[in-house]
Amino acid sequence: MRIDLHVHSNRSDGTDDPATLLDHAARTGLDVVALTDHDTFAGWEQAVAAARRLGVGLIPGVEISCRYAGRSLHLLAYLPDADYAPLDAELARIRASRDERVPQVVERLVRNGLDITVEEIVDGSTAATSLGRPHIADALVRRGHAADRREAFDRWLAEGRPGYVGKYAPSPQAAIPLVLAAGGVPVLAHPRGRASRVVVDDAVIAELAELGLAGLEIDHIDHDAPTRQALRLVAANLDLIVTGSSDHHGAGKIGHALGCETTAPEQLERLLEQARANATAAGRGAQPVASPVWRAS
Ligand code: AMP
Ligand code: FE
Ligand code: FE
Ligand code: ZN
Repeated sequence: MRIDLHVHSNRSDGTDDPATLLDHAARTGLDVVALTDHDTFAGWEQAVAAARRLGVGLIPGVEISCRYAGRSLHLLAYLPDADYAPLDAELARIRASRDERVPQVVERLVRNGLDITVEEIVDGSTAATSLGRPHIADALVRRGHAADRREAFDRWLAEGRPGYVGKYAPSPQAAIPLVLAAGGVPVLAHPRGRASRVVVDDAVIAELAELGLAGLEIDHIDHDAPTRQALRLVAANLDLIVTGSSDHHGAGKIGHALGCETTAPEQLERLLEQARANATAAGRGAQPVASPVWRAS
C-alpha cells in the first residue's frame, strides 16, 4: 500500500493536469494520492473522475498559504467541504492577492533591468486558478533570465530578493478553525521546511494542536534525519497523525518525484477517521466529491 498525501497539479504550480497526474500515480504504483493544490479546489473534479477510471484512491485536499510570525507557513487540509462558504471565501481572498501582486513583481523585475511582462506570465499559466511565484519563475526561464525555477527563486523571487512581493495569507490560528468548520483535517505541511523552520518550534506546534491541528507532515524532502526524529517525538507527545509525501510539482521541482516519500496505511486510517469525526462535529455530511475514493488492497 503506497500513499502520497501531497501533490500539486497545474491548477496551482504543478506542471501536469489532474488527470495526467493520476495517470502517473497509477503507473508509479501508488494506491492513494491526495491532490493538494495551493489555495484552490479547482483540480478536484477532474482528479476524482480520473481516479475512478484508474482505480487509484484520491483524497481531495488543499494546501493553504498561511503566515506566522512574518514567515510563510503551509497548512494542508484534507477532505474539507468545498461548499463551506467561509473557507472558500478565504481561499478566494488569498488567490486575489496572488493575482494582484503579479504586476508589482513585474514592476520590480523591470526596474532591475529584466525584460518581462504580466501578459506572458498569465499566458504561460492558463490552467492555473492559483497564480504563484513559480509561474513568474517559468516566464523568467523562458526569457533566459534563469536556468530553472530554483535559480529564478534564488536570484529574484525568494523572500529578500529584488522581485519579492508578499501576499495576503491568514494565520494558522485562523485557518485551522476554518478547516475544522468545513469538516476537514488540518495537517501542518513541511513544518521545518525552508520557510517555516525558523518560527515553528515545538511550542508553536503544541499551540496549534490545541486549536485542532491533527497531524504533521514529517517525511518530506525538506526534513533531514535529525529533524524527522525530533518531529516524531513531538507528534508522539501530542498524539498527532504523521504523514509523508512527495510534494510533487511535476517537472517544476526536482527531488519531488511522485511517491518518493509516503504515509503509513495506519496513519491514513487515522486521518480518514478524523475526517469523519470532523465532518460530523461540523454538522456537514460527507459531500459526494469529498468522500475519499479509495480502494483498500
Ligand atoms: P507562492 O505560492 O507564490 O508563495 O510560491 C511558493 C511556491 O514556490 C512553493 O510552493 C514552491 O512550489 C515554490 N518554491 C518556493 N521556493 C522555491 C525555490 N527556492 N525553488 C523552486 N521552487 C520554489
Ligand atoms: Fe508549490
Ligand atoms: Fe508547501
Ligand atoms: Zn506543496
